[in-house]
Amino acid sequence: MAPSRVINLRLTDRSRIVTYRRCPRRRWWEYEYKGRGVVPRSTDLALTVGLAVHEGIHQLLVLSPTDMAVRFATEFFQRQAENRGIHTEGGVLDIEEQVAMVEGLVRLFALEVLPGLTDEFEILETERELALPLTVAGDSLDLRLMSRPDAGLRQRSTGDYYIGSWKTTGSHWSARMEAEARHDDQGIAELLAFENDLLERRTSAKSVALRQRENFQDILRQPDPDLTVLQAKFTELLDSEKHCRALALTPTDVVMGVQMIYLLKGDRREWPEDSGQWVQWSPLVRGWRRPIAAVGSESAWEYAWSYRWECVAQHINGQGRRCPGGVGHRLGKGWEPFSVWQSAEVGGVKGWLDMLEAGVVQPDAGPCLSRQIVRPAPYFRVADEVQDWWAQARAQENAIADSSSILNQAIHDGNSSRVRYDLNNLFAQHRQSCLWPSRCPYYETLCWGPVPDYQVRPEDDAEAWRWREPHHQPEHEITGHGCLG
Ligand code: SF4
Ligand SMILES: [Zn+2]
Repeated sequence: MAPSRVINLRLTDRSRIVTYRRCPRRRWWEYEYKGRGVVPRSTDLALTVGLAVHEGIHQLLVLSPTDMAVRFATEFFQRQAENRGIHTEGGVLDIEEQVAMVEGLVRLFALEVLPGLTDEFEILETERELALPLTVAGDSLDLRLMSRPDAGLRQRSTGDYYIGSWKTTGSHWSARMEAEARHDDQGIAELLAFENDLLERRTSAKSVALRQRENFQDILRQPDPDLTVLQAKFTELLDSEKHCRALALTPTDVVMGVQMIYLLKGDRREWPEDSGQWVQWSPLVRGWRRPIAAVGSESAWEYAWSYRWECVAQHINGQGRRCPGGVGHRLGKGWEPFSVWQSAEVGGVKGWLDMLEAGVVQPDAGPCLSRQIVRPAPYFRVADEVQDWWAQARAQENAIADSSSILNQAIHDGNSSRVRYDLNNLFAQHRQSCLWPSRCPYYETLCWGPVPDYQVRPEDDAEAWRWREPHHQPEHEITGHGCLG
């Protein structure tokens, strides 16, 4: 018989915790149904771009060259598009445009974020799987919160630990988003997991160092110690003590906070208006140009990155007059938008971003790339807030474990009226979440179709559904379901 610890093990993560708060019914379908969760066959555009960009940034942080990081990210995106398809609310999707967007965001991170980040912080680790216990003495469930922080950081000037968290978002950075970052679930969950892991590693490193010290002293006590063995043990001891020092925490033994970095990817807009074509409106992939008379091998185009802008300094305007700076302008006649990834003259996304970085495109409008990034002040942990978050997550996930087991038992028993009754009692529909912040994937198919559905069979309808695949290694190992890539 397997040990009870394994029988009672239950894994959760921040996404499921937040999904339940948004809508308990969605949590049921996405994570609990038949112990696996069921999701639409195709994947969401924003999610897939975010995952692909994270692949690329992970490569950058382990010091891969930028071109290789771009390859990892774009190939990930293309694999997802080919294997599953990608859906979005904003019209038909141009996959090449989105591949260019992924490339642009990875190159943006390499050019604008990485140098400052590595100046300020030592990158200790990236995308490491962590598991934080959500239990107190006497709990029957061995509940663990899985997480994979984007980066574990140590500030060079203070030695303080931080979590690094990167997000891709649209273009509308607002005070509300800034405020939300202050109590973001992901930040708190990852901070706690990283801190717990540091403490565990420090404890285990200490006990290794202690053992090495005892071994060394045992040999010293011998009447005629072998000098080669003595030297080897001494080296081991020095190594383990060095490792201990490297893991030393700050005087307060805590991770100080979370440094978020947002990469702006622009909006999806219908362009030209009423054309039915939707495009990604970001200067990383879409610029402006107008023809100029080419002289010899000179460029045939003049380029700009923004249609409207406020000039940052004195300059001579298009009519040859002096402008004092701080004035609103817009591009005049003859300018047209162009797709950066299709332009050999600018050198595709790579060449275009290099031009933007060098400031040779529309210098009057000021720097382009730094405006595609938002780096809010770090969220600094508040001990009570963090403890409250942990307690709430533990209570919620224990209750869901019970509800899920009751409902899955009713499904197993084939008791359909019981299934409906339990669904209504245990996993309510939060109707205010159906269409915001985006349309829920279960909207037409399960909740608000002609006839509400209470069961889904991916085996019989593989065009529409698939079983959810684990995104965290521990769950993948335990269930053996699906893949991680
Ligand atoms: S459609 Fe609405 S009620 Fe149904 S699962 Fe989605 S958010 Fe919940
Ligand atoms: Zn001006």
